[in-house]
Amino acid sequence: MSQITEQIHSSDIGDILENSLDGIRPGFEDCIRLLESDAIHLMGMTAGYITRQKFGKKASFVNNIILNYTNVCITDCKFCAFYRSPGDDEAYTLSLENIEARVKTAWDLYKIRQVLIQGGHNPNLGVEYYEDAFRLIRTKFPKIGIHGLSTSEIDMVARVEKSSTKEILSRLKDAGLQSVPGAGAEILVDSVKKIISPKKISSDEWIRIMEEAHQLGLPSSATMMYGSVESTHDIAEHFEKIVKLQEKTQGFMAFIPWSFEPNNTLLQKENIVSYGAGGLKLLKMIAISRLVLDGLIPHIQSSWLTNGVGMAQLALQYGADDFGGTLIGEEVVSCTGARSTELTDQRIIDAIQQIGYQVEERDNFYDTVCMH
Ligand code: SF4
Repeated sequence: MSQITEQIHSSDIGDILENSLDGIRPGFEDCIRLLESDAIHLMGMTAGYITRQKFGKKASFVNNIILNYTNVCITDCKFCAFYRSPGDDEAYTLSLENIEARVKTAWDLYKIRQVLIQGGHNPNLGVEYYEDAFRLIRTKFPKIGIHGLSTSEIDMVARVEKSSTKEILSRLKDAGLQSVPGAGAEILVDSVKKIISPKKISSDEWIRIMEEAHQLGLPSSATMMYGSVESTHDIAEHFEKIVKLQEKTQGFMAFIPWSFEPNNTLLQKENIVSYGAGGLKLLKMIAISRLVLDGLIPHIQSSWLTNGVGMAQLALQYGADDFGGTLIGEEVVSCTGARSTELTDQRIIDAIQQIGYQVEERDNFYDTVCMH
């Protein structure tokens, strides 16, 4: 670290990085200064150093599949290329038999440890559909954890059932739900949401449902989708809301910054956003995530899905400690054409070992399954 101490000291964000090295997290104004600075490599060196102090030269991943159980959705987000309206020729909903067959195949082939279950806001699915699916998975495949349903899907189920989100979460937990994905946050600022997802739950509702989940003993991840129409101030506000909730509940296990992919989305068709944010922005967001959330949220994911394996390797040097999942069967981001290939566990293991890191295969709760 000593070679870069002088560079850090003389940079425009030197005071913030020095504080980080002393264990003092950047607050709101410092977060804005980081976002506005071009000293990305210094941020990365600092965030990478902090990360290696905690994890050594080691990165984790989870062997998982995504069950995108339905593409039927009535929420029409402008950043989404996946959904189909009810009645559309390409609309689908997986049956219980289909769900069982997919999970069984993934268990037999890959010994997966997690099923990530996410889909559209389908007004035809009541809570029993999810309860049956979760019970089936947990009963027949007890080693596989269920990481399922974004806060906005939980809100949809509550509306279908004319019930509260708390009641729905409680029923889903009883049926086998173990943790909640952070999807649906996008940017937790309503002026942004009004443009990119006007029919989705508000920022306050996202926070409220996450808090309910945490209080029920359901941990979760938190996400941020950057690169659409948000400002620097909006990103700092997003971080601040995540920090505040985490200080209250300690329920977030991981943070995942991922970049918006415009292809085949309404935001691109309406000429609001033409291009993805790119690799340098990813590294900046990873580094800032580590610095802002240091000591609060333990894991930062590398976000390979939208940025590729090479960028994920770099992200592990810039503050990420977890590669994410194999995500076999992913269909949402694939609809933008952003995803060129599926990753097997061996490809992730190879990618991590290529940078000289040890590989930890983990489960749904970030506990070690085995080392590679
Ligand atoms: S992002 Fe989710 S809620 Fe929005 S349109 Fe796509 S499937 Fe529906």
